[in-house]
Amino acid sequence: MHFKIITHEKVVFDEDVDEIYTKSTDGEFGVLKGHVPVMAALDIGVTKVVQNGEEKFFTTMGGVFQFKDEEAIILTTTAERGEDIDITRAKEALKRAKARLEDKDAEIDAKRAEAAVARAMARLKATLNK
Ligand code: ATP
Repeated sequence: MHFKIITHEKVVFDEDVDEIYTKSTDGEFGVLKGHVPVMAALDIGVTKVVQNGEEKFFTTMGGVFQFKDEEAIILTTTAERGEDIDITRAKEALKRAKARLEDKDAEIDAKRAEAAVARAMARLKATLNK
């Protein structure tokens, strides 16, 4: 089956794959060849593909997943290949966002800080096999 990951800015991935695992707002799920059509809203998380027994990891920050007629697509605002992720930057972003959440005195937008934590954690998870 074919799989594309597309953002406003670029085509992050556009290749044939054997398996896809991603994270929707209802939880993680996988798609293999011959799957029934799927449409899902994505959460901030990691998308994994398997190609000839080899795994590749991507971050996918929300958006939609669609599978139909052996064509899968993710349309999202932000996505990165695991190997393109700057680990130091993600660790710093995680530290900043956690500090914001823990600062009881600051007037913070908790949802925004939680989303920043989730993005940083997804980035670190996607680089585990780097
Ligand atoms: P930061 O606080 O480090 O900017 P962020 O979560 O606020 O992190 P985003 O707004 O999600 O960053 O992303 C802005 C742009 O920077 C996007 O193009 C994204 O792909 C890129 N980006 C963010 N963090 C990283 C990273 N750790 N490695 C590589 N690219 C990154």
